[in-house]
Amino acid sequence: MRFYIWEHHGYDLDFEPYRKQEIDLPAVRCEHCGYTFYGAPSASDIPLDVPRALRKQLASLQTETPDALSPEIISMEAFRELSQQVRQIYNLPPTYPVMPSAYLGARFVRGAANPAWHAYGPDRYTGSLYVSRVFAERLRERAIRGVHLFPVYTPSGEQSSVLLAVVTGDGGIPKIDRGELVVCSACGRWEVRGRTRVRYQVDETQWDGSDFFRFRYSLLVVSERVVEVVNEFGSSLFPYTRWEPLDTVERASSDMPVDFGPYSFLQISGGGQAREEGT
Ligand SMILES: [Zn+2]
Repeated sequence: MRFYIWEHHGYDLDFEPYRKQEIDLPAVRCEHCGYTFYGAPSASDIPLDVPRALRKQLASLQTETPDALSPEIISMEAFRELSQQVRQIYNLPPTYPVMPSAYLGARFVRGAANPAWHAYGPDRYTGSLYVSRVFAERLRERAIRGVHLFPVYTPSGEQSSVLLAVVTGDGGIPKIDRGELVVCSACGRWEVRGRTRVRYQVDETQWDGSDFFRFRYSLLVVSERVVEVVNEFGSSLFPYTRWEPLDTVERASSDMPVDFGPYSFLQISGGGQAREEGT
């Protein structure tokens, strides 16, 4: 089975999704490794009405800070408790992600309710993934697994022609071809150290077999079955999406000074002879 990294590319300014209830789950700080999870991973929304009890509870977690823009950050233990309550309130299946900073609240769209694309996102600002009803229907026909679909409403409350997709598939931690894989025993976050460029591979002993999945907390990956469906439509109908085979993409390890594909740090700073990647 071949896998592809699914990435958002460019913006459709006529497509304006929004929430009437702009409520997010809090950010979380891992006391063990010190990492703070500020942003939710891609396609991990909970696009359902937020009941009053949950709104009150989330408000009670907020501490007053002089800077109103600072996100609230809670401990992992507090988040674990909160996420169990959220699961109960919404009756979410165990595979459904409840992640720090996830967007809550039903999704609406103004402007073009019938966009020309078949998939949009997850963009870097909202992290949400949208698909057309036609594409969603084809995914269903092909028994594509690992996405949960929700209606997106027009301002008057009718269902629009797009659906919001939440990725439920789990790819675990990838295998790497070089560098050192470090995993936090408390929060489970992984990173690659060793000042190198690295290729990821799906570890089939950890992957749950879904066609849409994330490596633990990041990177949206799809199976070749999804790309086959896209190709049936024609990739020109997916102008805001890019796919790259997982086995060809090189990523910088976390302790590389710069993570820009075609550039090296020396070229950017203008000093010395630029070295080719892989040296
Ligand atoms: Zn940690």
